Amino acid sequence: MAQTLEVVFSGTGEIVQTDIDGDKSLFRSARGESKRFIQKHKLTAGDIIYITKTGERQFTVANKPISRLTLTTVLENFDAAILKALEESPESRKIFLDKTPKKPERKRVETTIFIRNPYVVAEVLDRARGNCERCKSAAPFLRKSDGSPYLEVHHKIPLSEDGDDTVENAVALCPNCHRELHFGNHAYKAVKSELN
Ligand SMILES: [Zn+2]
Ligand SMILES: [Zn+2]
Repeated sequence: MAQTLEVVFSGTGEIVQTDIDGDKSLFRSARGESKRFIQKHKLTAGDIIYITKTGERQFTVANKPISRLTLTTVLENFDAAILKALEESPESRKIFLDKTPKKPERKRVETTIFIRNPYVVAEVLDRARGNCERCKSAAPFLRKSDGSPYLEVHHKIPLSEDGDDTVENAVALCPNCHRELHFGNHAYKAVKSELN
């Protein structure tokens, strides 16, 4: 096998380690992934797909041109790659561990951030009085900066889903509750990678 490539199928959470094979299809072993990618984007004969180099050894297959790499895409691809690595045998993982460079690759991404209202945060922290508004436990530690109880102000309807930056749409949470709302079983899918 030639040098392996990581191929990410955009919008499907699928990622495959493969190489390019001119004789068969484009990628040697991505039949299932390609098929699900085609189904997901409802592609038919004649539709154009875009293959973009998104890393040193990574290519992303998408149904529209990728002009810029977003943080969300990078984090989603990373999550998919972890799931894939967990499914492999320890022997197979060892091969990748031995041949991948020790220093991580650097990437530049374009990120859009929301400029939140500090008065909303202050008001919600004041309302919480040092206790998580979900599990009701006391904040787990005090902030180094000012000794105040450490809680995180979270938006019930995420800003990225057009939620309001208001006191009514915000809750003060302990870090555990906050992580669970973003990454737990019932997390809003679209905001797994953001913490706000
Ligand atoms: Zn909590
Ligand atoms: Zn949050």
